[in-house]
Amino acid sequence: MKKIAAVEVQGIFKTYKSGFFRPRFTMALQGIDLVIHEGELFGVLGPNGAGKSTLLNTIMGLITPDKGCVLISGNNTCGMFHHEVRASMNMSSGNPNYPWALTVREALNFYGMLYGIWGKKLHIKVDSLIELMELEKHANTRFDELSTGTKQRTSIAKSLLNDPKILLLDEPTSGMDPNISVKIRGLIKRLHGELKITVLLTTHMMREAEELCGRIAFIKDGKITALGTKEKIQKMTKSKNMEEAFIELAAD
Ligand code: ADP
Ligand code: MG
Repeated sequence: MKKIAAVEVQGIFKTYKSGFFRPRFTMALQGIDLVIHEGELFGVLGPNGAGKSTLLNTIMGLITPDKGCVLISGNNTCGMFHHEVRASMNMSSGNPNYPWALTVREALNFYGMLYGIWGKKLHIKVDSLIELMELEKHANTRFDELSTGTKQRTSIAKSLLNDPKILLLDEPTSGMDPNISVKIRGLIKRLHGELKITVLLTTHMMREAEELCGRIAFIKDGKITALGTKEKIQKMTKSKNMEEAFIELAAD
């Protein structure tokens, strides 16, 4: 029997239109096909502007594609809202923007309630996530007063509120101090290994993809230009290491 993929992206196109009088069109995704198996730790790697965030937002259902569809655990989600599907996913944004006046704890409480967690259960969950992400010092700091890296950690904490089966992490370590990045990468590995969840992360850092991901899709100008294990990508680009492979794939 064929196993159902955790995430299946079929022929996704997305064009952004900006400017009113002289509209500009950006083809952010140009025909993306992707299958992510249950339990994979999958990386979408590519330079800035490649379309990584657009892809994650589309998978999460936050952006409607012009064409194509996204299947989550076999359920077609385009134009449809499946409560159970949404309840099984979460995403950490690469550029989190929560209500500015809420403290870290208040923001986590707020999003927790949106996921239907209340009372003591919510307190326990928020406390444990604050501890997990080492946010104790910042728990009562307003969101607009946080550093980029701390906002990022708050966003990862938020993404774990509903114990997702499919976790999307957009640039999870961008803006973090190197020592914190190391910890976050360790945490991602642990979450994936211990909880057996499917993790899809984006990064523009080749090292991060190499260290964390079983398979990697390299994306450039909204298209996947390489896909597979790091060994396969190195072989395909005739590179000695992933750094060389990245340079080769990112070149115009
Ligand atoms: P990445 O995450 O890989 O850096 P993005 O998905 O953010 O790439 O962006 C892909 C392309 O789409 C870029 O050229 C970016 O400038 C453009 N883009 C992203 N969001 C918007 C938007 N809301 N309006 C117009 N253009 C956008
Ligand atoms: Mg991005």
